Amino acid sequence: MSFTLAIVGRPNVGKSTLFNRLVGKRLALVDDTPGVTRDLREGDARLGDLRFVVIDSAGLELAEDDSLQGRMRRLTERAVEEADVCLFLIDARVGVTPADEIFADILRKKNAHVILAANKAEGNAGAAGALEAWSLGLGEPIALSAEHGQGLDDLYDILQPLADGFAARNVAQMPEVDVDLPEDLDEDAPIRMPTEARPLQLAVIGRPNAGKSTLINKILGEDRLLTGPEAGITRDAISVTKTFMGTPMRIWDTAGMRKKARVSDKLEKLSVADGLRAVRFAEVVVVLLDVNIPFEVQDLRIADFAETEGRAVVVAANKWDLEEEKTEKLKELRENFERLLPQLRGAPLVTVSAKTGKGLDRLHNAILKAYEVWNRRISTAKLNNWLGAMTEAHPPPAPGGRRIKLRYITQAKTRPPGFVIKATHTDQIPESYSRYLVNGLRADFDMPGTPIRLYFRDQG
Ligand code: GDP
Ligand code: GDP
Repeated sequence: MSFTLAIVGRPNVGKSTLFNRLVGKRLALVDDTPGVTRDLREGDARLGDLRFVVIDSAGLELAEDDSLQGRMRRLTERAVEEADVCLFLIDARVGVTPADEIFADILRKKNAHVILAANKAEGNAGAAGALEAWSLGLGEPIALSAEHGQGLDDLYDILQPLADGFAARNVAQMPEVDVDLPEDLDEDAPIRMPTEARPLQLAVIGRPNAGKSTLINKILGEDRLLTGPEAGITRDAISVTKTFMGTPMRIWDTAGMRKKARVSDKLEKLSVADGLRAVRFAEVVVVLLDVNIPFEVQDLRIADFAETEGRAVVVAANKWDLEEEKTEKLKELRENFERLLPQLRGAPLVTVSAKTGKGLDRLHNAILKAYEVWNRRISTAKLNNWLGAMTEAHPPPAPGGRRIKLRYITQAKTRPPGFVIKATHTDQIPESYSRYLVNGLRADFDMPGTPIRLYFRDQG
Protein backbone atom coordinates (compact mmCIF):
# COMPACT_ATOMS: atom_id res chain seq x y z
CA MET A 1 0.00 0.00 0.00
CA SER A 2 1.42 3.30 -0.97
CA PHE A 3 1.27 6.74 0.53
CA THR A 4 2.32 10.25 -0.38
CA LEU A 5 5.04 12.20 1.35
CA ALA A 6 5.46 15.94 0.82
CA ILE A 7 8.81 17.55 1.48
CA VAL A 8 8.20 21.05 2.77
CA GLY A 9 10.26 23.85 4.24
CA ARG A 10 11.70 27.22 3.39
CA PRO A 11 14.00 27.65 0.40
CA ASN A 12 17.50 26.27 0.56
CA VAL A 13 17.04 23.75 3.36
CA GLY A 14 17.69 20.88 0.96
CA LYS A 15 14.26 19.79 -0.22
CA SER A 16 15.29 19.17 -3.81
CA THR A 17 18.44 17.41 -2.75
CA LEU A 18 16.41 15.04 -0.63
CA PHE A 19 13.80 14.62 -3.32
CA ASN A 20 16.47 13.64 -5.81
CA ARG A 21 17.98 11.19 -3.41
CA LEU A 22 14.66 9.50 -2.70
CA VAL A 23 13.56 9.43 -6.31
CA GLY A 24 16.87 8.72 -8.00
CA LYS A 25 16.14 8.43 -11.68
CA ARG A 26 12.58 7.30 -11.17
CA LEU A 27 10.93 10.62 -11.84
CA ALA A 28 7.24 10.37 -12.49
CA LEU A 29 6.07 10.97 -16.03
CA VAL A 30 5.35 14.60 -16.62
CA ASP A 31 1.69 15.33 -16.47
CA ASP A 32 0.92 16.87 -19.82
CA THR A 33 -2.80 17.22 -19.39
CA PRO A 34 -3.63 20.61 -20.91
CA GLY A 35 -4.22 23.27 -18.33
CA VAL A 36 -2.40 21.49 -15.57
CA THR A 37 0.61 23.40 -14.41
CA ARG A 38 2.76 21.27 -12.26
CA ASP A 39 4.66 23.41 -9.90
CA LEU A 40 4.86 20.60 -7.42
CA ARG A 41 7.30 17.98 -8.57
CA GLU A 42 6.22 14.44 -7.99
CA GLY A 43 8.27 11.28 -8.10
CA ASP A 44 8.19 7.63 -7.20
CA ALA A 45 10.36 7.25 -4.17
CA ARG A 46 12.12 4.23 -2.84
CA LEU A 47 13.48 3.85 0.65
CA GLY A 48 14.48 0.34 1.66
CA ASP A 49 11.48 -1.78 0.84
CA LEU A 50 9.11 1.19 1.00
CA ARG A 51 7.59 2.58 -2.17
CA PHE A 52 5.76 5.85 -2.03
CA VAL A 53 5.05 9.04 -3.90
CA VAL A 54 7.12 12.05 -2.93
CA ILE A 55 6.19 15.64 -3.63
CA ASP A 56 8.79 18.37 -3.72
CA SER A 57 7.37 21.78 -2.93
CA ALA A 58 10.56 23.56 -3.98
CA GLY A 59 9.28 24.72 -7.34
CA LEU A 60 8.94 28.28 -6.18
CA GLU A 61 10.39 29.84 -9.27
CA LEU A 62 7.41 28.72 -11.27
CA ALA A 63 4.94 31.09 -9.71
CA GLU A 64 5.47 34.74 -10.22
CA ASP A 65 2.35 36.49 -9.27
CA ASP A 66 2.83 37.30 -5.63
CA SER A 67 5.29 37.65 -2.81
CA LEU A 68 7.75 34.91 -2.01
CA GLN A 69 6.03 34.28 1.26
CA GLY A 70 2.65 34.04 -0.41
CA ARG A 71 3.99 31.57 -2.93
CA MET A 72 5.67 29.48 -0.32
CA ARG A 73 2.53 29.36 1.67
CA ARG A 74 0.36 28.41 -1.26
CA LEU A 75 2.63 25.69 -2.52
CA THR A 76 3.09 24.27 0.92
CA GLU A 77 -0.61 24.21 1.56
CA ARG A 78 -1.17 22.41 -1.69
CA ALA A 79 1.56 19.90 -0.99
CA VAL A 80 0.09 19.27 2.44
CA GLU A 81 -3.34 18.72 0.99
CA GLU A 82 -2.04 16.17 -1.46
CA ALA A 83 0.07 14.29 1.02
CA ASP A 84 -0.56 11.75 3.75
CA VAL A 85 2.47 12.90 5.66
CA CYS A 86 4.79 15.90 5.49
CA LEU A 87 8.50 15.85 5.95
CA PHE A 88 9.31 19.28 7.26
CA LEU A 89 12.95 20.21 6.74
CA ILE A 90 14.92 22.80 8.56
CA ASP A 91 18.61 23.57 8.12
CA ALA A 92 20.47 22.17 11.11
CA ARG A 93 23.41 24.46 10.46
CA VAL A 94 21.34 27.57 10.63
CA GLY A 95 18.92 26.48 13.34
CA VAL A 96 15.31 27.55 13.59
CA THR A 97 14.57 30.77 11.70
CA PRO A 98 11.44 32.93 11.65
CA ALA A 99 10.63 31.50 8.22
CA ASP A 100 10.71 28.01 9.70
CA GLU A 101 8.24 29.15 12.32
CA ILE A 102 5.90 30.32 9.58
CA PHE A 103 6.04 26.91 7.97
CA ALA A 104 5.48 25.18 11.28
CA ASP A 105 2.42 27.34 11.70
CA ILE A 106 1.04 26.43 8.30
CA LEU A 107 1.50 22.76 9.06
CA ARG A 108 -0.18 23.08 12.42
CA LYS A 109 -3.12 24.98 10.98
CA LYS A 110 -3.51 22.40 8.25
CA ASN A 111 -3.41 19.74 10.92
CA ALA A 112 -0.82 17.91 8.87
CA HIS A 113 0.88 14.76 9.96
CA VAL A 114 4.44 16.01 10.32
CA ILE A 115 7.83 14.40 10.52
CA LEU A 116 10.36 17.01 11.49
CA ALA A 117 13.88 16.70 10.13
CA ALA A 118 16.98 18.79 10.58
CA ASN A 119 18.90 18.54 7.33
CA LYS A 120 22.59 19.21 6.70
CA ALA A 121 23.25 17.49 10.00
CA GLU A 122 26.28 15.55 8.83
CA GLY A 123 29.21 15.57 11.21
CA ASN A 124 28.73 17.17 14.58
CA ALA A 125 27.85 20.60 13.34
CA GLY A 126 24.18 19.80 12.91
CA ALA A 127 23.50 18.39 16.36
CA ALA A 128 22.76 21.75 17.94
CA GLY A 129 20.42 22.79 15.15
CA ALA A 130 18.62 19.50 15.38
CA LEU A 131 18.20 19.93 19.10
CA GLU A 132 16.89 23.42 18.57
CA ALA A 133 14.25 22.08 16.20
CA TRP A 134 12.43 20.78 19.25
CA SER A 135 11.32 24.31 19.93
CA LEU A 136 9.00 24.14 16.93
CA GLY A 137 6.79 21.94 19.06
CA LEU A 138 6.46 19.33 16.36
CA GLY A 139 8.03 16.56 18.34
CA GLU A 140 11.24 14.70 17.88
CA PRO A 141 13.36 15.89 14.97
CA ILE A 142 15.39 13.39 13.03
CA ALA A 143 18.85 14.37 11.90
CA LEU A 144 19.37 14.05 8.15
CA SER A 145 21.97 14.75 5.59
CA ALA A 146 20.30 14.68 2.22
CA GLU A 147 23.57 15.36 0.50
CA HIS A 148 25.44 12.54 2.20
CA GLY A 149 22.54 10.16 2.53
CA GLN A 150 22.71 10.05 6.30
CA GLY A 151 19.75 9.59 8.59
CA LEU A 152 17.70 7.87 5.92
CA ASP A 153 17.49 4.78 8.08
CA ASP A 154 15.87 6.90 10.77
CA LEU A 155 13.43 8.22 8.22
CA TYR A 156 12.72 4.67 7.16
CA ASP A 157 12.06 3.62 10.74
CA ILE A 158 9.46 6.34 11.10
CA LEU A 159 7.82 5.79 7.74
CA GLN A 160 7.70 2.03 7.85
CA PRO A 161 5.09 1.67 10.61
CA LEU A 162 3.26 4.65 9.18
CA ALA A 163 3.04 2.91 5.85
CA ASP A 164 1.31 0.03 7.60
CA GLY A 165 -0.90 2.52 9.34
CA PHE A 166 -1.90 4.17 6.10
CA ALA A 167 -2.73 0.81 4.65
CA ALA A 168 -5.00 0.14 7.59
CA ARG A 169 -6.51 3.59 7.46
CA ASN A 170 -7.15 3.43 3.75
CA VAL A 171 -9.26 0.40 4.36
CA ALA A 172 -10.91 1.97 7.37
CA GLN A 173 -12.01 4.91 5.29
CA MET A 174 -13.68 2.67 2.81
CA PRO A 175 -17.39 3.29 3.36
CA GLU A 176 -18.00 4.13 -0.29
CA VAL A 177 -15.64 1.56 -1.70
CA ASP A 178 -17.02 -1.88 -2.32
CA VAL A 179 -15.54 -4.95 -0.74
CA ASP A 180 -15.27 -8.27 -2.50
CA LEU A 181 -17.46 -10.17 -0.16
CA PRO A 182 -17.55 -13.60 -1.79
CA GLU A 183 -13.80 -13.97 -1.81
CA ASP A 184 -13.57 -14.26 1.89
CA LEU A 185 -11.99 -16.80 4.11
CA ASP A 186 -13.68 -19.99 5.11
CA GLU A 187 -11.47 -20.41 8.11
CA ASP A 188 -10.04 -18.15 10.75
CA ALA A 189 -6.68 -16.89 9.61
CA PRO A 190 -3.66 -17.78 11.72
CA ILE A 191 -2.32 -14.96 13.82
CA ARG A 192 0.98 -13.47 12.84
CA MET A 193 3.03 -13.29 15.99
CA PRO A 194 5.78 -10.74 16.57
CA THR A 195 9.21 -11.78 15.35
CA GLU A 196 12.70 -10.32 15.55
CA ALA A 197 12.23 -9.01 12.05
CA ARG A 198 8.83 -7.62 12.81
CA PRO A 199 8.64 -6.75 16.46
CA LEU A 200 5.45 -5.74 18.16
CA GLN A 201 5.29 -1.94 18.12
CA LEU A 202 4.58 -0.69 21.60
CA ALA A 203 4.02 2.75 23.07
CA VAL A 204 3.70 3.54 26.74
CA ILE A 205 1.78 6.73 27.30
CA GLY A 206 0.40 8.53 30.26
CA ARG A 207 0.53 11.73 32.19
CA PRO A 208 3.81 13.02 33.58
CA ASN A 209 4.93 11.08 36.64
CA ALA A 210 2.74 8.09 35.93
CA GLY A 211 5.94 6.07 35.87
CA LYS A 212 6.49 5.63 32.14
CA SER A 213 10.24 5.96 32.21
CA THR A 214 10.51 3.72 35.25
CA LEU A 215 8.46 1.10 33.44
CA ILE A 216 10.32 1.37 30.18
CA ASN A 217 13.66 1.18 31.90
CA LYS A 218 12.47 -1.85 33.82
CA ILE A 219 11.49 -3.52 30.58
CA LEU A 220 14.74 -2.58 28.93
CA GLY A 221 16.79 -3.77 31.87
CA GLU A 222 18.35 -1.56 34.42
CA ASP A 223 21.65 -1.34 32.65
CA ARG A 224 20.38 0.33 29.57
CA LEU A 225 20.63 4.06 29.90
CA LEU A 226 20.96 6.62 27.23
CA THR A 227 23.91 8.83 27.75
CA GLY A 228 25.38 11.88 26.16
CA PRO A 229 23.82 15.09 24.98
CA GLU A 230 22.96 13.69 21.58
CA ALA A 231 20.67 11.05 22.93
CA GLY A 232 17.65 13.24 22.37
CA ILE A 233 18.15 13.46 18.66
CA THR A 234 19.20 9.97 17.73
CA ARG A 235 16.98 7.15 16.76
CA ASP A 236 17.63 5.42 20.06
CA ALA A 237 15.64 8.07 21.77
CA ILE A 238 12.70 7.44 19.52
CA SER A 239 12.49 3.73 19.73
CA VAL A 240 14.37 0.74 20.96
CA THR A 241 13.92 -2.90 20.17
CA LYS A 242 14.04 -5.43 22.93
CA THR A 243 12.82 -8.89 23.71
CA PHE A 244 10.40 -8.50 26.59
CA MET A 245 9.68 -11.85 28.22
CA GLY A 246 10.29 -13.66 24.98
CA THR A 247 8.35 -11.27 22.73
CA PRO A 248 10.30 -9.02 20.37
CA MET A 249 9.04 -5.51 20.90
CA ARG A 250 9.93 -2.14 19.59
CA ILE A 251 9.19 0.37 22.28
CA TRP A 252 8.53 3.91 21.20
CA ASP A 253 9.97 6.62 23.26
CA THR A 254 8.19 8.86 25.66
CA ALA A 255 9.67 11.57 27.79
CA GLY A 256 11.20 9.15 30.21
CA MET A 257 14.06 7.97 28.10
CA ARG A 258 14.93 11.49 27.34
CA LYS A 259 14.96 12.36 30.98
CA LYS A 260 17.71 9.84 31.41
CA ALA A 261 19.57 11.57 28.66
CA ARG A 262 19.50 14.72 30.74
CA VAL A 263 17.95 16.90 28.12
CA SER A 264 16.68 20.18 29.45
CA ASP A 265 13.51 20.58 31.49
CA LYS A 266 11.76 22.49 28.78
CA LEU A 267 11.61 19.37 26.66
CA GLU A 268 9.97 17.46 29.44
CA LYS A 269 6.80 19.41 28.97
CA LEU A 270 6.32 17.87 25.57
CA SER A 271 5.91 14.47 27.12
CA VAL A 272 2.20 13.93 26.67
CA ALA A 273 2.07 15.33 23.16
CA ASP A 274 5.07 13.25 22.32
CA GLY A 275 3.44 10.18 23.76
CA LEU A 276 0.44 10.82 21.58
CA ARG A 277 2.73 11.00 18.62
CA ALA A 278 4.18 7.65 19.60
CA VAL A 279 0.67 6.22 19.41
CA ARG A 280 0.76 6.60 15.68
CA PHE A 281 3.72 4.27 15.45
CA ALA A 282 2.37 1.76 17.87
CA GLU A 283 0.28 -1.34 17.44
CA VAL A 284 -0.37 -1.77 21.11
CA VAL A 285 -0.58 1.19 23.47
CA VAL A 286 -0.11 0.85 27.18
CA VAL A 287 -1.99 3.63 28.94
CA LEU A 288 -0.17 3.97 32.22
CA LEU A 289 -2.15 5.34 35.15
CA ASP A 290 -0.88 6.48 38.49
CA VAL A 291 -3.03 4.43 40.82
CA ASN A 292 -3.15 7.33 43.28
CA ILE A 293 -4.84 9.60 40.74
CA PRO A 294 -6.36 7.35 38.07
CA PHE A 295 -8.76 8.30 35.30
CA GLU A 296 -8.45 12.01 35.36
CA VAL A 297 -9.26 13.95 32.23
CA GLN A 298 -5.76 13.64 30.89
CA ASP A 299 -5.78 9.86 31.20
CA LEU A 300 -9.12 9.65 29.50
CA ARG A 301 -8.01 11.81 26.64
CA ILE A 302 -4.96 9.70 26.13
CA ALA A 303 -6.88 6.43 26.18
CA ASP A 304 -9.54 7.83 23.92
CA PHE A 305 -6.94 9.02 21.46
CA ALA A 306 -5.42 5.55 21.30
CA GLU A 307 -8.85 4.10 20.59
CA THR A 308 -9.67 6.67 17.95
CA GLU A 309 -6.42 5.90 16.25
CA GLY A 310 -7.46 2.26 16.16
CA ARG A 311 -4.73 0.92 18.41
CA ALA A 312 -5.00 -2.04 20.74
CA VAL A 313 -5.07 -0.69 24.26
CA VAL A 314 -3.89 -2.09 27.56
CA VAL A 315 -4.52 -0.06 30.68
CA ALA A 316 -1.96 -0.51 33.42
CA ALA A 317 -2.43 0.92 36.89
CA ASN A 318 1.05 1.66 38.17
CA LYS A 319 2.50 2.10 41.68
CA TRP A 320 0.44 -0.83 42.85
CA ASP A 321 3.08 -1.42 45.53
CA LEU A 322 1.75 1.67 47.31
CA GLU A 323 -1.80 0.36 47.46
CA GLU A 324 -2.98 -1.18 50.69
CA GLU A 325 -6.58 -2.05 49.99
CA LYS A 326 -5.79 -3.90 46.81
CA THR A 327 -9.04 -5.80 46.33
CA GLU A 328 -11.21 -2.78 47.00
CA LYS A 329 -9.12 -0.58 44.80
CA LEU A 330 -9.11 -2.96 41.88
CA LYS A 331 -12.88 -3.17 41.97
CA GLU A 332 -13.13 0.59 42.02
CA LEU A 333 -10.69 0.91 39.13
CA ARG A 334 -12.61 -1.54 37.02
CA GLU A 335 -15.89 0.22 37.68
CA ASN A 336 -14.50 3.60 36.79
CA PHE A 337 -12.84 2.22 33.73
CA GLU A 338 -16.07 0.76 32.38
CA ARG A 339 -18.04 3.84 33.18
CA LEU A 340 -15.61 6.38 31.83
CA LEU A 341 -14.23 4.54 28.82
CA PRO A 342 -17.11 2.54 27.37
CA GLN A 343 -15.44 2.61 23.98
CA LEU A 344 -12.69 0.43 25.40
CA ARG A 345 -14.99 -2.09 26.93
CA GLY A 346 -13.17 -5.19 28.04
CA ALA A 347 -9.72 -3.77 27.47
CA PRO A 348 -7.34 -5.44 29.87
CA LEU A 349 -6.70 -3.55 33.07
CA VAL A 350 -3.63 -4.81 34.84
CA THR A 351 -1.90 -3.63 37.95
CA VAL A 352 1.85 -3.22 37.98
CA SER A 353 4.66 -1.80 39.96
CA ALA A 354 7.20 -0.38 37.57
CA LYS A 355 9.45 0.16 40.53
CA THR A 356 9.54 -3.40 41.87
CA GLY A 357 8.78 -5.14 38.61
CA LYS A 358 5.79 -6.89 40.11
CA GLY A 359 3.03 -7.50 37.59
CA LEU A 360 5.27 -7.18 34.53
CA ASP A 361 4.35 -10.72 33.52
CA ARG A 362 0.68 -9.79 33.63
CA LEU A 363 1.43 -6.72 31.57
CA HIS A 364 3.36 -8.75 29.02
CA ASN A 365 0.54 -11.25 28.65
CA ALA A 366 -2.03 -8.50 28.28
CA ILE A 367 0.04 -6.79 25.58
CA LEU A 368 0.44 -9.99 23.64
CA LYS A 369 -3.22 -10.86 23.93
CA ALA A 370 -4.25 -7.36 22.82
CA TYR A 371 -1.96 -7.67 19.83
CA GLU A 372 -3.42 -11.02 18.95
CA VAL A 373 -6.98 -9.72 19.14
CA TRP A 374 -6.09 -6.65 17.13
CA ASN A 375 -4.78 -8.89 14.35
CA ARG A 376 -7.54 -11.45 14.51
CA ARG A 377 -9.38 -12.58 11.41
CA ILE A 378 -12.62 -14.48 11.77
CA SER A 379 -14.03 -16.67 9.05
CA THR A 380 -17.00 -15.47 7.07
CA ALA A 381 -18.86 -18.68 7.82
CA LYS A 382 -18.60 -18.18 11.57
CA LEU A 383 -19.56 -14.56 11.27
CA ASN A 384 -22.68 -15.30 9.30
CA ASN A 385 -23.82 -17.97 11.74
CA TRP A 386 -23.30 -15.44 14.45
CA LEU A 387 -25.23 -12.75 12.60
CA GLY A 388 -28.16 -15.11 12.17
CA ALA A 389 -28.26 -15.81 15.89
CA MET A 390 -27.93 -12.15 16.78
CA THR A 391 -30.76 -10.98 14.55
CA GLU A 392 -32.93 -13.81 15.75
CA ALA A 393 -32.34 -12.98 19.40
CA HIS A 394 -32.98 -9.34 18.82
CA PRO A 395 -34.32 -8.39 15.36
CA PRO A 396 -33.40 -5.06 13.86
CA PRO A 397 -36.10 -2.40 14.05
CA ALA A 398 -38.69 -1.78 11.37
CA PRO A 399 -38.76 1.94 10.75
CA GLY A 400 -41.97 2.92 8.97
CA GLY A 401 -43.03 -0.72 8.96
CA ARG A 402 -40.17 -1.84 6.71
CA ARG A 403 -37.86 -4.21 8.48
CA ILE A 404 -34.15 -3.71 8.11
CA LYS A 405 -32.61 -6.89 6.81
CA LEU A 406 -29.03 -7.73 7.68
CA ARG A 407 -28.00 -10.12 4.96
CA TYR A 408 -24.35 -10.82 5.16
CA ILE A 409 -21.29 -10.05 7.23
CA THR A 410 -17.62 -10.37 6.55
CA GLN A 411 -14.43 -9.14 8.10
CA ALA A 412 -12.95 -6.61 5.74
CA LYS A 413 -9.84 -5.73 7.66
CA THR A 414 -7.67 -6.37 10.68
CA ARG A 415 -5.48 -4.13 12.84
CA PRO A 416 -8.00 -3.24 14.22
CA PRO A 417 -10.75 -5.63 13.19
CA GLY A 418 -13.29 -4.09 10.81
CA PHE A 419 -16.49 -5.72 9.62
CA VAL A 420 -18.88 -4.99 6.81
CA ILE A 421 -22.55 -5.89 6.91
CA LYS A 422 -24.64 -5.84 3.78
CA ALA A 423 -28.12 -4.74 4.69
CA THR A 424 -31.24 -2.95 3.55
CA HIS A 425 -32.04 0.59 4.66
CA THR A 426 -28.60 1.04 6.20
CA ASP A 427 -29.27 4.69 6.86
CA GLN A 428 -32.03 3.70 9.28
CA ILE A 429 -30.00 1.39 11.48
CA PRO A 430 -29.97 3.00 14.89
CA GLU A 431 -26.77 3.57 16.77
CA SER A 432 -28.06 1.36 19.57
CA TYR A 433 -28.41 -1.60 17.24
CA SER A 434 -24.97 -1.05 15.87
CA ARG A 435 -23.65 -1.04 19.43
CA TYR A 436 -25.50 -4.24 20.16
CA LEU A 437 -23.71 -5.88 17.24
CA VAL A 438 -20.29 -4.51 18.14
CA ASN A 439 -20.65 -5.63 21.74
CA GLY A 440 -21.81 -9.01 20.49
CA LEU A 441 -18.78 -9.37 18.22
CA ARG A 442 -16.58 -8.44 21.12
CA ALA A 443 -18.12 -10.92 23.51
CA ASP A 444 -18.74 -13.84 21.17
CA PHE A 445 -15.41 -13.77 19.39
CA ASP A 446 -13.40 -12.84 22.44
CA MET A 447 -12.09 -9.50 21.26
CA PRO A 448 -11.78 -7.45 24.42
CA GLY A 449 -10.28 -4.03 24.34
CA THR A 450 -9.67 -3.67 20.68
CA PRO A 451 -11.40 -0.99 18.66
CA ILE A 452 -13.96 -2.71 16.46
CA ARG A 453 -15.14 -0.92 13.33
CA LEU A 454 -18.49 -1.86 11.85
CA TYR A 455 -19.66 -0.61 8.48
CA PHE A 456 -23.00 -1.09 6.79
CA ARG A 457 -23.46 -1.30 3.06
CA ASP A 458 -26.72 -1.06 1.25
CA GLN A 459 -27.96 -4.06 -0.59
CA GLY A 460 -31.45 -3.50 -1.85
P1 GDP B 1 15.67 23.58 -1.47
O1 GDP B 1 15.61 24.98 -1.89
O2 GDP B 1 15.06 23.39 -0.12
O3 GDP B 1 15.15 22.60 -2.47
O4 GDP B 1 17.23 23.22 -1.24
P2 GDP B 1 18.27 22.50 -2.23
O5 GDP B 1 18.01 21.04 -2.26
O6 GDP B 1 18.30 23.22 -3.49
O7 GDP B 1 19.61 22.70 -1.39
C1 GDP B 1 20.10 23.97 -1.04
C2 GDP B 1 21.59 23.89 -0.80
O8 GDP B 1 21.87 23.10 0.35
C3 GDP B 1 22.35 23.25 -1.96
O9 GDP B 1 23.56 23.95 -2.12
C4 GDP B 1 22.60 21.85 -1.46
O10 GDP B 1 23.77 21.29 -2.04
C5 GDP B 1 22.78 22.06 0.02
N1 GDP B 1 22.45 20.86 0.78
C6 GDP B 1 21.35 20.07 0.64
N2 GDP B 1 21.40 19.05 1.52
C7 GDP B 1 22.52 19.19 2.24
C8 GDP B 1 23.15 18.44 3.29
O11 GDP B 1 22.66 17.41 3.76
N3 GDP B 1 24.31 18.92 3.79
C9 GDP B 1 24.89 20.04 3.31
N4 GDP B 1 26.03 20.45 3.87
N5 GDP B 1 24.36 20.76 2.30
C10 GDP B 1 23.20 20.34 1.75
P1 GDP C 1 7.09 9.48 33.92
O1 GDP C 1 7.04 10.95 34.01
O2 GDP C 1 5.76 8.91 33.56
O3 GDP C 1 8.18 8.93 33.06
O4 GDP C 1 7.34 8.95 35.42
P2 GDP C 1 8.67 8.43 36.14
O5 GDP C 1 9.04 7.08 35.63
O6 GDP C 1 9.70 9.47 36.07
O7 GDP C 1 8.15 8.24 37.61
C1 GDP C 1 7.63 9.31 38.38
C2 GDP C 1 7.82 9.02 39.85
O8 GDP C 1 7.06 7.90 40.24
C3 GDP C 1 9.26 8.68 40.19
O9 GDP C 1 9.55 9.26 41.42
C4 GDP C 1 9.25 7.17 40.29
O10 GDP C 1 10.24 6.68 41.15
C5 GDP C 1 7.88 6.90 40.83
N1 GDP C 1 7.39 5.59 40.44
C6 GDP C 1 7.34 5.08 39.18
N2 GDP C 1 6.82 3.83 39.21
C7 GDP C 1 6.55 3.54 40.50
C8 GDP C 1 6.00 2.39 41.17
O11 GDP C 1 5.66 1.37 40.58
N3 GDP C 1 5.85 2.49 42.53
C9 GDP C 1 6.22 3.59 43.22
N4 GDP C 1 6.06 3.56 44.53
N5 GDP C 1 6.73 4.67 42.61
C10 GDP C 1 6.90 4.66 41.29
